[in-house]
Amino acid sequence: VVDLGMPNRTVLTTCAYCGVGCSFKAELRGDEVVRMVPYKDGGANEGHSCVKGRFAFGYASHPDRVTSPMVRESNTDEWREVDWETAISHVAERMKDIQTRHGAGTIGGITSSRCTNEEVYAVQKMVRAAFGNNNVDTCARVCHSPTGYGLKQTFGESAGTQDFKSVAKSDVIMVIGANPTDAHPVFASRMKQRLREGAQLIVADPRRIDLVRSPHIEAAHHLQLNPGSNVAIVNAMGHVVVTEGLVDRSFVGDRCEDFDAWAEFIGGPENSPEVMEPITGVPADELRKAARLFATGGNAAIYYGLGVTEHSQGSTMVMGMANLAMATGNIGREGVGVNPLRGQNNVQGSCDMGSFPHELAGYRHVSDDAVREVFEDLWQRPILAEPGLRIPNMFDAAIDGTFRGLFVQGEDIAQSDPNIQHVTAALDSLELLVVQDLFINETAKYAHVFLPGTSFLEKDGTFTNAERRINRVRPVMKPQTGKDEWQIACDIAQAMGYDMAYDHPREIMAEIASVTPTFAGVSFEKLDKLGSVQWPCNDDAPEGTPVMHVDSFVRGKGKFVETPFVPTSERSTRRYPLILTTGRILSQYNVGAQTRRTNNVAWHTEDVLEIHPYDAEERGISDGDRVALTSRIGGTELRAVVSDRMPTGVVYTTFHHPETGANVVTTENSDWATNCPEYKVTAVQVSQLNPG
Ligand code: SF4
Repeated sequence: VVDLGMPNRTVLTTCAYCGVGCSFKAELRGDEVVRMVPYKDGGANEGHSCVKGRFAFGYASHPDRVTSPMVRESNTDEWREVDWETAISHVAERMKDIQTRHGAGTIGGITSSRCTNEEVYAVQKMVRAAFGNNNVDTCARVCHSPTGYGLKQTFGESAGTQDFKSVAKSDVIMVIGANPTDAHPVFASRMKQRLREGAQLIVADPRRIDLVRSPHIEAAHHLQLNPGSNVAIVNAMGHVVVTEGLVDRSFVGDRCEDFDAWAEFIGGPENSPEVMEPITGVPADELRKAARLFATGGNAAIYYGLGVTEHSQGSTMVMGMANLAMATGNIGREGVGVNPLRGQNNVQGSCDMGSFPHELAGYRHVSDDAVREVFEDLWQRPILAEPGLRIPNMFDAAIDGTFRGLFVQGEDIAQSDPNIQHVTAALDSLELLVVQDLFINETAKYAHVFLPGTSFLEKDGTFTNAERRINRVRPVMKPQTGKDEWQIACDIAQAMGYDMAYDHPREIMAEIASVTPTFAGVSFEKLDKLGSVQWPCNDDAPEGTPVMHVDSFVRGKGKFVETPFVPTSERSTRRYPLILTTGRILSQYNVGAQTRRTNNVAWHTEDVLEIHPYDAEERGISDGDRVALTSRIGGTELRAVVSDRMPTGVVYTTFHHPETGANVVTTENSDWATNCPEYKVTAVQVSQLNPG
């Protein structure tokens, strides 16, 4: 018999990279994955894929994988491999010891948007029920927490309004602070298809992203705004809609509240495109044309990314976009809506599962007695009515000595969070840092216990994508670590004296459904039968909800909120004259922990600094030169790419490699409502290294 290398079994599962949530058939020979084949009936991708989902799975078997638990007394000691029982009891005893000596509020945990809903739910339950506090936060804190806040305030639900297919009915597509062709490629293909069919495009971005440059797409309007001026842009558009009589009066009258106060605010001269022009850098007549197109061009949809949320006014901007959509009647049917493009595979899910310090599963505030009672009855533990610490609060408290023990599930906070010097000082101050991950990442260098996690190929559970679609993740192989990740949180809770046990993740989903009205109709059985469902899924919508807010908003009436523009305190200065903004490239993913370990040369990239020819020439910088990038926070070195994709005065880099570490320069500034870091605006200096 000749072994032709053909696969002998397939498993249907979900990509673990971006928030598009593409379905794949993993084809295996024995236990080895030989191919990932995009699934033609996948609800999000319908047979399409990008390079990451199709080819970047080699990290799961990379030799850097740690598969045994490890402990050490101090974070400068050598690691010592131990068995699971020893590791779990070590974590439980040390967490309990900190509680006893310093109080229950001095420990906490961070959940991961890379993990399944069931794994996330287990960690937040461990923190609330076994740690005895609400000190649980999610890595979505640093990406889409303003989405959760802003859409809840205006529409009543912390989620995007549409399914991806809806874009096929759009006549006007407005992309703000997102680069879908690199970051959400499969959805970008849907969008481009619609644009090729004649839909009009508005892009608001400081950078000439691929959508703007595509020869097949005529970008009707590229609003090349100054970083930090999003709210000025959306307010100016709202101003045009109100003052030029373009409001959808019937929609606003029937479906919304607080319109008159908003109209008076937005119609004020301070919001006019002419007044905003010097702030945004966008000519007033371009802004007026874009606003008229959005209001009168037919179905208009907004798609946005971290270029909206990662600002000091991230939440304000989300509400500003919601105002614009409501004022023009672009909510509640196909082809319209306000749609966050989630960066990670399970950002939506990790937020849904109750891993914010102020909200239990389903975005219900911990101060709500009736909601707490539901969980207290089920968990048989009291839940505090006061919100716990957010991630940045945990760092500050660690440095103050009032926060001492942290459990981190799959987030490399020492590379991905801003002002890394502050983060590492906080991690260094902890008595106990427990890291659960695939690799010894930058954060693990400060850890006392390392608990090996599982890759998506070993997981059994669900991810929820950017369109609220709950997809099944099925195990292709047994956990290489000998333990499922959801089981780790259960074991720690159990060892701390709290009875938390499940036989299978389907039981965790059953518990989620029993306490979360928007998930009441979700079960593994239904997901296996239907393929996927979009929440809300309950008695009112047993097969899920592709488009939200159809007849009424989740909160009843859509709420207009006044959104005054407040400039960020981060400004260019004589010493730091340029503004740095950040983003991703197609072949890499976030901090690169997985994509850098794919054994594929296409992933041998580096972070570079894009700089406009004028700014480069002024500094004697040629294409390919090594340059120093410095802010008031810190500095790094990288290679310059001289390019007119950026306007003068603005430079751009990515954050995929720890060596270049873009976040050593980003600042402590954050969104006023959610503390989402302001990654997108940092005043910097760029200088050529070794000039002459
Ligand atoms: Fe995976 Fe996103 Fe690419 Fe789909 S678009 S294959 S979910 S990385």
